[in-house]
Amino acid sequence: MRKIKSQIKSVKTSRATKITFALNADLCQQAENILESQWTQFDYTYKSLSELIRRSLEAYQEGEIEINLNERDKHAPKREVSVRFFNTDLLNYYYSLPYSQRTAIIEESLREYLNKISLESKELEKYRKIIPAKPKKPQLKLSPYRLEGFECDRCGDKCYDETAYSYAPSMSEINNYQTYCSNCVK
Ligand SMILES: [Zn+2]
Repeated sequence: MRKIKSQIKSVKTSRATKITFALNADLCQQAENILESQWTQFDYTYKSLSELIRRSLEAYQEGEIEINLNERDKHAPKREVSVRFFNTDLLNYYYSLPYSQRTAIIEESLREYLNKISLESKELEKYRKIIPAKPKKPQLKLSPYRLEGFECDRCGDKCYDETAYSYAPSMSEINNYQTYCSNCVK
C-alpha cells in the first residue's frame, strides 16, 4: 500500500486528533445496538461507538479481519461520527491508507468487526448453554380480566370495557402486573 509521507508528518502527537467521518447510518445503528446489548449484560469492553471504530481499524491493521470494499453501498444514508485517535500508530496507519478509500475502509472494517464480535458472543452463548440451567420458576400464565378501562402496556392503546390480559394470578393483584390488550397477546 502506498504511504503518503507528507500527511504522516502533519500528525500531532501531543494530543488526540479528532476525525469526523460520514458513515453508513444503518451500520452505526447496528453497532450501537450491539453496544447496548453488551452493556445490558455488563460487558463494557467498548465504551462508545468511536472506541468500536478505532478497534475495528486496529483489527484491520493487524489482519484480524478481511474486508471487501466492493460490498459497500456508497449511497446509503450517512451519519457523522467523530472519532478521537489517541494512538499515534493507528492514526499514522489511517493516514497511510489511500485517501479516496479511507471512509470505505473505516466502514467495512466496522462491518466486519461487528460480525466478528457478534459471532464470538454467539460462541460464548454456546458455552453458557453447557452449564446446567437452574430449575426454572413456574411459568406465569396470562389470564383474561374484565376491566373498565386500562392502558395496554405493550402497544399503549387505551381500552374501555375490553378484556385485559395479565400475568396477575388474581384480580386483587392486577395492579402489580402489566396488562395487555387482546391484540397484543395473540
Ligand atoms: Zn396492546
